Amino acid sequence: MSCPATGMAAGLNGPRGCAFLGGMSHQSSSETLYGAPQGPNALQTLMEKERKTLCEVLLPTAPPKEKTKNMANADSLNPPELDVLAIALGAPTRRVLERADRIGEETGWRDGFLSTKHGLCPPDPNAPAAALAHSPGRVWSDICSRMPGLIARGRIREAILELPLIDGSAETIPDKALWAAVVCLGILASIWRYEERNDGHEGIIKARARKEHFYNIHGEPDEEPETVGIPRNVVIPFRQICTRLGRPLPYLSQSDVSLHNYKIRDPTSTFPYLERNENMDLRWPIFNDYGERNFLLCMAEVHGLFTPGLDIIARCQERVMEKDDDGLLVELVKLKQVVDQLLYVFHKISVNPHAGENFSPPASWGQGYAKFSAPLSKRLPALSGLFLPIFQVMDTFLQRTNFTSFLGIESRHLRAWMPLNIRAFLAAIESEFDVVGYIRKGGRGGRRDERLVGVLDAIVESYAGEKGFMGTHRYKVYGFLEIVAKTGRVETNGGAGASDSIGRPWSEVHKTLAASMKERLEPYRGRGPTSTTSHSDPNALSLSLSVQPHEMRGTYEECRFWAKLVKRSSIDDDPHRTTGKVTIDVKNTGLTFIPGDRLAIMPLNCWKDIEKIVGALGLVDLLDVNVPLTGDGAAKWLRYAHHEAEVSKSDPSIAPRVTVRDILRKGKLAPLTKDMVMTVHSFLKISSITLRVLGSEAWPVNGSLGDLLVAALNEVPEEVWDQAFSLNDLSWLPLLIAPEVPRTYSISSFYFNLLPDTLDLTVARSEHVVSPLLLPAGSTERVTRSGVCSGFLNPDPTLDHEPNHHLITGTNYSPDEVPVLVGINRPLNFQLPISTAAPVAMFAGGSGIAPFRGFWQARIGSGVIGRNLLFLGVQSRQKFVYKHELRDYVTSGKLELHVAFSRDTNGLVYDPVCRDLVEKTMEPRYIDALILEQGPTVCDLLISTKLGGLGGSVYICGSVNLYETVMSGIREALYRYRAVTKEGADELLAQAFAERRIMLDVFMTPRVMKEDEPYISLSELSKHTGHREGGKMWIGVHGSVYDVTDFLPIHPGGTLIVAGSAGIDASDTFDEVAHTSNPEVMSLLGKYFIGYLTPKPNFQTTELGDIYDSWVDYMRTCVESLTTLSFEVDTLKRDSKLWFSDGLLSTHAIRKLYQLQSRFLTSTGFPILFGTKLQELYLKLSFSIANSGDESLLPDVMGRITNATSSPSAIAARKEIAELGEFVSNSATAAPAFERGIIAYTRNVCELDVRLLEQIRDEIGEGYDKFMRVAEVMKNYPSKERQALHKIATVLMSYLERIAERVDSFYVDLAAESLYHPEREANPARARWRFLQRRLKDGSFFLLTKEMVPLSLESRTSTPVQMFESKRSKRQSVSFDHVLSQAISSVSKSSSPRSTSRGGHRHNKPSSHANGYRNEPLPPVPPIPASAVYQPQPVRPLRLADAHTARARGPSDSTTFEEQMISKAASRMSQFMNRRMKDIRRLSKSTDLGLSLDHAMAVYGGGGPRGPESVAESDESEGSSPTSGSSIGMSRPGMNHRQMSVDHRYGSGGSSSSGSVPHSRQTSMAGGLESGRTMTTMRRAPSRSDLHSATFSRKLSVYGSNAGSRPGTPNSGAPPVPSKQSHW
Ligand SMILES: Cc1cc2nc3c(=O)[nH]c(=O)nc-3n(C[C@H](O)[C@H](O)[C@H](O)COP(=O)(O)OP(=O)(O)OC[C@H]3O[C@@H](n4cnc5c(N)ncnc54)[C@H](O)[C@@H]3O)c2cc1C
Repeated sequence: MSCPATGMAAGLNGPRGCAFLGGMSHQSSSETLYGAPQGPNALQTLMEKERKTLCEVLLPTAPPKEKTKNMANADSLNPPELDVLAIALGAPTRRVLERADRIGEETGWRDGFLSTKHGLCPPDPNAPAAALAHSPGRVWSDICSRMPGLIARGRIREAILELPLIDGSAETIPDKALWAAVVCLGILASIWRYEERNDGHEGIIKARARKEHFYNIHGEPDEEPETVGIPRNVVIPFRQICTRLGRPLPYLSQSDVSLHNYKIRDPTSTFPYLERNENMDLRWPIFNDYGERNFLLCMAEVHGLFTPGLDIIARCQERVMEKDDDGLLVELVKLKQVVDQLLYVFHKISVNPHAGENFSPPASWGQGYAKFSAPLSKRLPALSGLFLPIFQVMDTFLQRTNFTSFLGIESRHLRAWMPLNIRAFLAAIESEFDVVGYIRKGGRGGRRDERLVGVLDAIVESYAGEKGFMGTHRYKVYGFLEIVAKTGRVETNGGAGASDSIGRPWSEVHKTLAASMKERLEPYRGRGPTSTTSHSDPNALSLSLSVQPHEMRGTYEECRFWAKLVKRSSIDDDPHRTTGKVTIDVKNTGLTFIPGDRLAIMPLNCWKDIEKIVGALGLVDLLDVNVPLTGDGAAKWLRYAHHEAEVSKSDPSIAPRVTVRDILRKGKLAPLTKDMVMTVHSFLKISSITLRVLGSEAWPVNGSLGDLLVAALNEVPEEVWDQAFSLNDLSWLPLLIAPEVPRTYSISSFYFNLLPDTLDLTVARSEHVVSPLLLPAGSTERVTRSGVCSGFLNPDPTLDHEPNHHLITGTNYSPDEVPVLVGINRPLNFQLPISTAAPVAMFAGGSGIAPFRGFWQARIGSGVIGRNLLFLGVQSRQKFVYKHELRDYVTSGKLELHVAFSRDTNGLVYDPVCRDLVEKTMEPRYIDALILEQGPTVCDLLISTKLGGLGGSVYICGSVNLYETVMSGIREALYRYRAVTKEGADELLAQAFAERRIMLDVFMTPRVMKEDEPYISLSELSKHTGHREGGKMWIGVHGSVYDVTDFLPIHPGGTLIVAGSAGIDASDTFDEVAHTSNPEVMSLLGKYFIGYLTPKPNFQTTELGDIYDSWVDYMRTCVESLTTLSFEVDTLKRDSKLWFSDGLLSTHAIRKLYQLQSRFLTSTGFPILFGTKLQELYLKLSFSIANSGDESLLPDVMGRITNATSSPSAIAARKEIAELGEFVSNSATAAPAFERGIIAYTRNVCELDVRLLEQIRDEIGEGYDKFMRVAEVMKNYPSKERQALHKIATVLMSYLERIAERVDSFYVDLAAESLYHPEREANPARARWRFLQRRLKDGSFFLLTKEMVPLSLESRTSTPVQMFESKRSKRQSVSFDHVLSQAISSVSKSSSPRSTSRGGHRHNKPSSHANGYRNEPLPPVPPIPASAVYQPQPVRPLRLADAHTARARGPSDSTTFEEQMISKAASRMSQFMNRRMKDIRRLSKSTDLGLSLDHAMAVYGGGGPRGPESVAESDESEGSSPTSGSSIGMSRPGMNHRQMSVDHRYGSGGSSSSGSVPHSRQTSMAGGLESGRTMTTMRRAPSRSDLHSATFSRKLSVYGSNAGSRPGTPNSGAPPVPSKQSHW
């Protein structure tokens, strides 16, 4: 492989080395850089070298005679003047580059960094910082250098206020310092805003800042939205610097914080390129958090990687200008190699806690950097990756024309804000010599050049495809955002504020990213049928891509090249060629690959199977007939036909067609799935064969459709058969047979030319025995068959595979050249090391050797110096593949080969002295024995260079069993030779994984699923979240449950992502991340299958189904809350770096705990679990109970929750948390004195949080089990569901009561925890003194120093959840009207704009809370909505900046995820009430209820316990007179406004909260269930069915016997409610 820029062979490229030679290149010489000459005459040389004469370009040859023959006037033979001028001036991109090169340095790159040598990176990243350091602006960079420390000590704003005012004009700050100045000042402005919102005090520091601090340069108050509220000593120079950089308004851009904010660790470490994450540091980090670091540096690295890209693009344009097709091909291949590398950067942002420095903790990032990076105002460009110039460059080069998606529109906006040099370059790409258009028109000769088209298509895939840069980014974002969304980030980027049907915003982001990918792909893939394809016009073409990018995964759409299967060869001594080499001709396709890549290939069915179907269905004369694509199943084939037409680039005006032969050859015939057999059965109806097969206990059934039809043929009457399979209308055929899916094979060869001519696969034929169900009854024959694709690629040479001549008559079929659809599939984690000196050890079993042939050919062929070791597990000498080739490498000293034969005593031993394999008789053995034998070498390879090892790369390829054997061998070797303990060995292994020096390509044959596997309930699943040490982790996917505990170490995305789906049905996530359609994932997962998920019972009534859905949904919320809480808690418990920096306590950890607890108690935890969602359940259950005439059984669950959350314990607990906020603000002096107390407090409250969520989950799980048991009984009494409904609602209601009690106990325990334990501290006297000081400050002191800002309605009601004040004692039950009024009030709250509006629609907060719009009038009080019918508000923000601004809100705001969950629950409640309006009216005792819920609100909203009006009134009084309220929270300083408002809202009213449900009441609950029998109203004489019903009731009652008992009471069977905290 050669350098993409220079085209030079390995070792000849520039001083920065080259990223694109994989492991094959050498460090380059310093004479050229990406082929561009250097030195003072570089430009001259370049121009001479690059440019041809005008004559050469425009008139290279004499016009052909045919053209001139009949010409009367030959003027037109001369080129037009404008063409001549364009070529005389040169390619526009080159001109822009040259200009930038010429004046960039001396102007301090004021127009933006853009150069031939350095692409989009600064030529010298130190230069601007050095220039700033030598100017008075040094004060800005100095404070930025102290930034993480100042933030950790809580002193950054003080430091900013102390800055002198430095003039930002050219007299003071030289041009060369501009880029550093803009970064520093932008960071200072943004951190000021961040601190204002997140200091635990929310603005208290204001007291220290005088109003003059905020005057603008004219001495007036600064009211511009970008800068209002930020001190003038930052803002004034910031505006000046920005103006000098051509920025119309002051802003910090994404490029500033990444591309302009790094320093190089080792400037001599240019291999493979300088700007690598691991060779860079952030010059001015904000929090010094790994997430922040990795995100920003990886953005810089992408541009470092793309350095040659601009020059290559300019060259492409020049080649087009010169009409040099071959030259253009060379440049395009180089560009592809550059783009191919981009996606690997994502490795360096990992959510895998074992990924060392690459671990980027999502929660910390979401709460820290993500909030910091809000733009200074909404009209500025958002700090989004979209701002990065590489996207604009690639989009423009690839001619993206569609910008209608959310991100598309944003991209257009952002382009206008790019530095001017970059805008000029973009315009130059667009202006002339358009590369894509040139290729589309057929290049120089006007005839399509397949190579150019193929490479261009591959660049598009590599950039915007599912498995390319954008696809990889999209999946990375999905996993990351899921965790971030649940753990505190308020907003997401794309489509901010929106969510899918179950409230998951990250899924919406996924779709938004997919939409922008589609816009890029459409011009290249837009020929598919539209989704609205009508039957009358089935072949209608559309320019829009009808499928989502992830739907292409695992389908033929991944195969975008036509290739030819040309040869099958033996590679061992096995006469049946069980494993063989298959050669595919890919010449002139434009396809490229690197070692480790795989080929996706569409198989063709074997002729013998086709023959059976043709015979059975009588299709022999119809093979070339076009199948009508109109009936059921046609859409799939239509899509397939379009795809083939597109790959073939056939005339778009000709409608694609599919013949009978196509369907038989390319359709799925085997193995038989249940759906396939059901289809045949539905055709034949009376077939006993299909019935017999349907009774199979394992699926799929081994055998083909041909077997089934042949077996059925003889037993189905002819007329039935003919009617089912009519030969006059074949529209049934597409329904009977669907298109096949491609299989994947590792590429087993390598090439050194520009493009490959052929590639090899190593294919092991899979064989299986045909199911006896398909054989004639009584047959004992054992029929073996080959797998569809492996049998097609590598058939047994001893058997006849020639097609019957009838099948191929009239075709140009040739057994020597079979056309196949193929595509390249690149694993993200299986590439050779970049360093050519790194040793490589390959471990393979069976066909696992396949990718390694590409490895050794590439490495040895390019003369690398690192050692190559191959460890092979082989059955016998006969099956030792590639032995001759291997032996040659061994004897030439280029490969060390170690082989273990598992079934052969004729062993071979590697002799390092004579470098050969020596015969030796030995016991058969497996690969782990071999590893132990070579233990010291293997250990040295695995151990990092830091620890004195060789730091080699280890690759394992083969089945999961092989992987496990190899790993156990390596672990044992490490233990035996290097580590003292097993844990030590594991540690070394974990480190090698984290450094990505162990890479896996592990695959499994899909597992046949047996029907008799156990069933696992959702509640059982929910208990396996693995969040406790040693716990098991299960996930549910499409009806199956998998124990993924052992899979975690090999999950490429790391454990956190899997843990995010632990304990729940993760089918949606699986579909969205395209795992379901990925045979690799699904077959691997098969190994971890442990049972089927109990399906939802088949309820007859919608009510029961509805309650079931809500209960399950609530259970899911509990589990998700628990798993994500555990992520945060784990970080707090385990990450000592979070707590201490250089021995000093850091506010980061305290801030994190404060934010976690604030969210948990005011947002994440309670409103999501105990607010609207719980209320939804409560409403539905209450309705069911009341509807059965038993209103006396309605306990006041919501009131009890309110009592618990407003109890003295709860208030005391929240105050303690408010004290934490004090530390965040004033930690520099205060916190260290209480260090031990804070840490102990953290440990205890975190444990209490986790335990509460576990308890709630268990209560809900128990309720679910009861529900399922009743459902089981009901199976036999389907007509009695209504009766059961009442009983089940009563039982479930009792679990809601238990939950309320758990909450109460939780607060009691939490209140017992205190931060202050002076006796535990290192300096008790100091701690006591500080404590005293704090108490002195307590009360009025703080209130006086605080700048009191009246609360706006917005901040008072930011938590979109209502906690209802109970008017009654908990001993009482409440009326249904009471429940209803609460629900109506909740729905109206949730549908009001303030609670649903996200992104740009959310009102600004007062004072320092929202972009400093302090002087804006407070928003008007929103009217109480006229209807409680849920009306979703438009949620999409107009701009990304809106979303980013919104996400910067304070710590206790609920997250998008939470708000979505709450809002969806409100919506469901509203629908529920609407559907049951008639019954509700009947049930309501109020005569005023009227006909609508509007009316109901008027009645209950004002007069009930707390309706919307009363809430609004109360809010008003809260805002206007904070000290006059009854809130206990206000009586104590240190609580922020929001906490105060929450306290107040929870209220001190209501009944006593300390008591618990009296036993008598509990008994009556249980009795209620028991009395179900008697409560069943019998209005007529008992009939048989009534007797039936009585038996049913009796059966039912058995399951509710202890449901109503109080948790913790004796005999309840439930775990006792803890009254005291337990210790960890
Ligand atoms: C990443 C990767 C790389 C690979 N590289 C290679 C390689 O280099 N060389 C190589 O030989 N193989 C390789 N494979 C395996 C290869 O892709 C095929 O899976 C294998 O050849 C079998 O395919 P087939 O069409 O021949 O068999 P199939 O016809 O698919 O059937 C094989 C067996 O699986 C059963 N089966 C099929 N579908 C299902 C299902 N949905 N559920 C349960 N059972 C099912 C069948 O009943 C049959 O018993 C690789 C696989 C992956 C995922």
